[in-house]
Amino acid sequence: MTSEPWKKCVSQKRDDRQCVCVNVIHRAGDAAARTAGTNAAQNFQNMVSSAGNVARCCPFLRVDIHYCTINAATWMRVIVPAIGADNAISSEGEAVALDRVNPCTRANCINLTIVTINIPGTLGLTDIGPPGNSAIDPTASATDPNVGAHELGHAMGLNHNDSSRDNVMTTSTIPSGNNFTPAECRIIWQNLGNYPC
Ligand SMILES: [Zn+2]
Repeated sequence: MTSEPWKKCVSQKRDDRQCVCVNVIHRAGDAAARTAGTNAAQNFQNMVSSAGNVARCCPFLRVDIHYCTINAATWMRVIVPAIGADNAISSEGEAVALDRVNPCTRANCINLTIVTINIPGTLGLTDIGPPGNSAIDPTASATDPNVGAHELGHAMGLNHNDSSRDNVMTTSTIPSGNNFTPAECRIIWQNLGNYPC
């Protein structure tokens, strides 16, 4: 890879597809959560790789999705003490507590836990990575189909960006926009190596 790979032309980038590791974590037997996690990861892949975003410097990207399930006994013993008997993240503190005890965390991978979030107006909670630990509500994509791109954007090192309502990282609209800026694309490139496939 050259030192400034984002400067490559579109066809060069297509021939040099990049990959990031995403680890979808959910309660065992919860097929809807598994689907929500898969959709979020694929939304990120497709958004970064859109014609417009690749033209603005983003890589062609694929996500390598791993799955880790937490069985009912472990959920009761480990997860409930962190997030409470409502089985939902109701505060940022509970999200931090979940991160601390999560038995499914995978090193050098974006850890995406699908769990109910009971914070008004909040569909997902993600650390500005790397490392990027993310939680997304299983129903969030019904409200914002771009929630995966937005939350995994945080995991890739992106902050909020309200310069344009079309931006993926905006907080000003739901659903989020479709565009990454060239500067955001560079940050994505620079952090790819933290989540190798
Ligand atoms: Zn955000």
